[in-house]
Amino acid sequence: MNYISLSDYLKSKYGTKVYKLSLSTGCTCPNRDGTISYGGCIFCSEGGSGDFAATGMDLDEQIAYAREKVDAKIPAKIPANERKYIAYFQSFTNTYGDEAYLMDLFKRVLDYPEIVGLSIGTRPDCLSDEMIDFLGNLNKDKEFWVELGLQTIHESTAKLINRGYELPVFEDAYKRLTNAGLKVVVHVILGLPGESDDDIIETVKYLAKLNPTLFGIKLQLLHVLKGTKLAEMYEENPFRIYELDEYCEIVGRCLMALPKETIIHRLTGDGPKKLLIAPLWSGNKKLVMNTMRSYIAKL
Ligand code: SF4
Repeated sequence: MNYISLSDYLKSKYGTKVYKLSLSTGCTCPNRDGTISYGGCIFCSEGGSGDFAATGMDLDEQIAYAREKVDAKIPAKIPANERKYIAYFQSFTNTYGDEAYLMDLFKRVLDYPEIVGLSIGTRPDCLSDEMIDFLGNLNKDKEFWVELGLQTIHESTAKLINRGYELPVFEDAYKRLTNAGLKVVVHVILGLPGESDDDIIETVKYLAKLNPTLFGIKLQLLHVLKGTKLAEMYEENPFRIYELDEYCEIVGRCLMALPKETIIHRLTGDGPKKLLIAPLWSGNKKLVMNTMRSYIAKL
C-alpha cells in the first residue's frame, strides 16, 4: 500500500530532502512541574519525550549547534547554501511559558532563510486563544504545524498513563487550531499497557473521522525507558510488548484505517538507546525500518 511519508511530502514541496533541527524553547510541562501532576506521563523520560535539543543557548547558538550535528550527515554534494531544515520544538510543552517570549522565538526562527518550516510540540490544554491566533497569523509561506500528544482516545488508558487531560480537551484544541487554519499532527502510542490492537484501531479510526481531515500523525511504538514510571510498572508486572512482526501488523492496520491524505510523520520512533529497556529490537533502526517498509509494500 502507498502512504505519504513526511519526508516525501517535504521533498515534493521543496524539491530536496529537508532535515530536522531539534531546538529547545526551555519550557517545562504542567504535567511535571506540579500544575497538573509531578509525575508526568508514565512513559516520559527526563528529556520530556523529545529529541535531543541543546538547552541553555540562545536561538542563534542552538541553530548553529543543531546544524553542525545534522550537516555532518548530509552528503557533501548538497552545498551548504542549498540545505533546508525544519525547526523542531519537540521536548516538553512548547506553548507552556511566557507567551510573548515564545511568540518572538517562533517568529524569529522562521526568519532564518534556510529554515523552511516549524513544528511545535505541545499539550492541548496549553493553547491559549492568543497563542492560536498568533500561530494562525505566522508566515504562511513556510510550513508549520502543531503536534499534540494524544496517545489514545480511551479514558481508562489516559488515566493509567497519567496524561492529565480528557478527550474533550483534545477535541476543543483541534477545533480551535484548525479554525485558525493551522495544521495538526497527533501522536499515538501503539502498545500502551492494557490496550488491545482493536483499542488502538479505535483511536486511529476516531482520528480518521476528524473534520477537517487530520494533517499528520506520528505512530509511535511504546518504548520502556529507564527512569520512568512505566519502567517500574514493567519490572513489577511485565505487560505485553510488541515483537517486530506484530508491530508491523498493527502499523499496517493503522495505515489502512487512515485517510490517504494524512501524512505519516513517523512509523515507529526512537527511544534513546542508553535508556531503552524494551523492546530491544527497536534499537536496530535500520532493520526495523527495512522490515516495516517491506511489510507495508506488500499490503
Ligand atoms: S505532556 Fe509530554 S512532556 Fe509532559 S509529561 Fe507528558 S510526555 Fe512528558
